[in-house]
Amino acid sequence: MMILLSHNSNPFLLDGQWFKGNTHCHTTLSDGKREPGHAAQWYRANGYDFLAFTDHHNTAAASKAATDGLLVIPGIELDAIDPKIGEYHLVGLGVQAYAQPRQSDLPLQLAIDRVRDLNGLAVLAHPHWMGLRADDLLDVQGLTALEVFNTTCELINGKGLSDVLWDELLAEKKQLWGTAVDDTHWAERDDPGGGWLMVKAQEWTQAAILHAIARGHFWTTTGPELYKVWLDGKTVRVECSPVKIINFIAQGRHGSTERAEPTSLLTRASFELTGQEIFLRVEIIDEQGRRAWSNPFYLSSQVSQ
Ligand SMILES: [Zn+2]
Ligand SMILES: [Zn+2]
Repeated sequence: MMILLSHNSNPFLLDGQWFKGNTHCHTTLSDGKREPGHAAQWYRANGYDFLAFTDHHNTAAASKAATDGLLVIPGIELDAIDPKIGEYHLVGLGVQAYAQPRQSDLPLQLAIDRVRDLNGLAVLAHPHWMGLRADDLLDVQGLTALEVFNTTCELINGKGLSDVLWDELLAEKKQLWGTAVDDTHWAERDDPGGGWLMVKAQEWTQAAILHAIARGHFWTTTGPELYKVWLDGKTVRVECSPVKIINFIAQGRHGSTERAEPTSLLTRASFELTGQEIFLRVEIIDEQGRRAWSNPFYLSSQVSQ
């Protein structure tokens, strides 16, 4: 399951096609302000290939939206309180039906296990916004990803970004992918189109997209584009759309950054591995401050999910 830079698990080197999608969206079936069909229409009209509906404790939206031109993936968002870590939200991608009654007290591990039992992918929603800390999550198993960026949380109080928490968990050798999402509510905030995934999959089906997300075969963004990240000898190379900053992030003080001159932009950068990196991920930041993230590439074999 690990992604290795030089290996055919690197999405930039894999065969297949890129598909654009949002993996967190509400409708009138929970606290969103648009009907499922109307929500799907926005994503179809804006060039998305897929959309996951993730209403709070309701999986019905996917069956209520017409699907021509847009792949609709069912899902759910569970919100509850873990007796040890407090309040959390967990997205279950691919969950078609959830028969359990809503529980306010539900340990996070139990929620993850339920999502996985229903063949869903468990994604920790907006952890920074929830006030979760890395220590709370070290013993948790079975998470596929966390939301490294959540548009709605950014628009509520500027806490949409969870990258530090992500790095803390990666440094502890947790295997965890990062997603940038809208968490669309269609309310007064302009929340659609803020964050999306680009998934490398074999075909345009729910099974292929979820399979690829489970394996980390995607990059995620609020605007700029990663064209290619790959290993050339001991050098990690990146090609991307024009940006101001290209960061090579590893644990602690490892990694490096490339910054454009005041009047120029970068479209490539490289980083020589020292051999000390547990993981390496690439992050780019454009002139408007928008970001894109690669998933972490693991350079150590002792990684657990
Ligand atoms: Zn939430
Ligand atoms: Zn939500």
